[in-house]
Amino acid sequence: MDCGDEARRAAELLVNSSYSIAFTGAGVSTESGIPDFRGPNGLWRRFDPRMAGVEYFLGDPRGFWAFYSARFKSMLSAKPNAAHLALAELERMGLIKAVITQNVDGLHSAAGSARVIEVHGSSKSVRCSRCGARAPFVDALKSYEETGEPPRCSCGGIYRPDVVLFGEPVVRLGEALDEARRSDLALVVGSSLTVHPAAEIPLLVKEGGGSLLVINMEPTEYDDLADVVMNCPAGRALESVLRESRRIIDSRP
Ligand code: NAD
Repeated sequence: MDCGDEARRAAELLVNSSYSIAFTGAGVSTESGIPDFRGPNGLWRRFDPRMAGVEYFLGDPRGFWAFYSARFKSMLSAKPNAAHLALAELERMGLIKAVITQNVDGLHSAAGSARVIEVHGSSKSVRCSRCGARAPFVDALKSYEETGEPPRCSCGGIYRPDVVLFGEPVVRLGEALDEARRSDLALVVGSSLTVHPAAEIPLLVKEGGGSLLVINMEPTEYDDLADVVMNCPAGRALESVLRESRRIIDSRP
């Protein structure tokens, strides 16, 4: 699909909106080398989704740490891609007010986005499963690699990643919902929109009378409701939207 026409339409809506938010998922980071869950090369084609569940952590902390340490370690060296950079630039231009992300990789902030709401937590820290104290993931990883045992807090509790596991409530949901309620446009990038309740955030914008733009390689749950759907790679699509937005702004008297 050549997304040129859709990029023009998306840019028109974006430039004419008064409070737009971006809502991103794992697909915005695949071009940085981090696999998504449900795409063609997604993790769930190789692993059992139960491995992302809180019950797996509680029942088998060793197996859990073997899976998570490898996954989060690879995120440490990942760099923002064209999609993250374009979103940061759209924010600097005043066209996006906040990025609400389901991702835990920290790449929006690394790209320069200033207002980032990480509703599924962050891979950069761990949290004690007993006392709740937080520590840097790199320190916990070092301990795990040295001992081969799940790292422990000074209180004796086992550290877990500071992210939302399946079966747990979303964090900063209230803040994200407030953003959605005041928005008149949601730009979804790289999400299958199947993980709830986070996926309801862009829906809320549409239900409130706003516009819904979807950039995703595959069809999503809400394509029928969307004003623009771009089935293109996120980096290329967002660079086009950025270019078209600049063109519209520059052509204004
Ligand atoms: P998902 O795996 O359900 O869906 C990702 C979507 O992105 C797929 O539909 C896929 O077609 C699309 N996609 C893949 N590469 C793309 C690209 N280059 N351009 C455009 N679209 C692309 O992901 P989700 O909806 O975010 O939900 C899964 C959950 O897993 C979320 O909570 C997410 O945070 C978490 N997760 C996070 C990371 C990360 O932090 N980078 C990685 C994997 C999973």
